[in-house]
Amino acid sequence: MYPEDSKEKWFSGKGLWHEVDDKDWNNWSWQLRNRITSLSQLEEYLELTHEEREGCRLAYSKLSMAITPFFFNLIDRKNANCPIRLQVIPRVEEMTTSQEEMLDPVGEDEHSPVAGIVHRYPDRVLFLVTDRCASYCRYCTRSRMVSNAQDYNFHPALEDGLAYIEQNSSIRDVLLSGGDPLLLSDRKLDYLLGRLRKIPHVEFVRIGSRIPVFLPQRITPELSEIFRKHGPVWMSIHVNHPTECTVELKSACEQLAFSGVPLGNQSVLLRGVNDDLMVMKSLVHRLLMMRVRPYYLYQCDLITGSSHLRSDISTGLDIIRGLRGHTTGYAVPQFVIDAPGGGGKVPINPDYVERISENEIVFKNFLGKTYRYPLIGGTIGHVPNIDGIRDKILT
Ligand SMILES: *Cc1c(COP(=O)(O)O)cnc(C)c1O
Ligand code: SF4
Repeated sequence: MYPEDSKEKWFSGKGLWHEVDDKDWNNWSWQLRNRITSLSQLEEYLELTHEEREGCRLAYSKLSMAITPFFFNLIDRKNANCPIRLQVIPRVEEMTTSQEEMLDPVGEDEHSPVAGIVHRYPDRVLFLVTDRCASYCRYCTRSRMVSNAQDYNFHPALEDGLAYIEQNSSIRDVLLSGGDPLLLSDRKLDYLLGRLRKIPHVEFVRIGSRIPVFLPQRITPELSEIFRKHGPVWMSIHVNHPTECTVELKSACEQLAFSGVPLGNQSVLLRGVNDDLMVMKSLVHRLLMMRVRPYYLYQCDLITGSSHLRSDISTGLDIIRGLRGHTTGYAVPQFVIDAPGGGGKVPINPDYVERISENEIVFKNFLGKTYRYPLIGGTIGHVPNIDGIRDKILT
């Protein structure tokens, strides 16, 4: 079952591919060339359910299937509900679009001044530099464009994006994403980071990537040197379940950290994958052991064909309540909803405040015990103006 603490073994090695040479196995191009991308390949390794077989037949028109051999090994092949399996093996339910679902759930296309740039927040942009990933997540927010199964025909326009950033001095933060930026060659990444670093108003550069999880072989000494050279470059990885914390991922994170790359993690709350306090707790503990700070826990976006994977908001709130105060503060991610239609990420928090009265705030701690703090002169100004209460106190 789930690895519940650090004493459980972390996965490592070649698994089903034990006959492959170490040299090939550790080569990221070999991993990419040998990805599982077709139904017939998949059936060589796994007995599929009816829902999965149908899903694989239809995936070519929605979001392609691709699974690196390294990641495939993490699947528990005896368990049809394996949380790793649910993330990467297509299911027929993906073809059902519920009423609330959208092709572009967080309104990225409307906020795109040039192809590949999403400029929603005044001071920062999302810069989409490729539409390819090492493996494809079935709930991907950008499945309209990622893998190009839907003929969206995204062509990364790196020079246009760079020019836009150069011309807009309000942009101090650039987030490289896609697709997965780490699929670009070392040469291209070196060029891109070099160009961004030359822009005087760009203070902060980060990369969103699931490559360390799907393809840790990509984190080579040469790549790490590029990050060191153009640093500080921050990175958000994407791990959803403790099983994904492998010895290989840990060592990739170590290389990145030693090259000066601060690491965060973004998880998506997924039904049957990580919508459980014990699973999440084990995940965030493993992340800290790998030098990764849990950053966001996302409520799953309303992407078409994802209703079978979406959990309730209350499940996310229960998880945060179960972590806050019960474990290391560094281990607790911020639960957010990326507002449907394009409002940006909004924090959703458990409510610890019971009431704010004229002279005190009454709140509960992590054990549910009630505490009070007086509203004395100087602190009134700091009291949030919930229901206009501060105005009321001040008048
Ligand atoms: C998520 C996102 C960012 C980064 O948001 P942070 O809260 O700073 O991590 C920037 N732009 C867009 C369009 C995003 O979706
Ligand atoms: S790695 Fe990211 S961009 Fe690629 S399929 Fe997964 S969620 Fe989508």
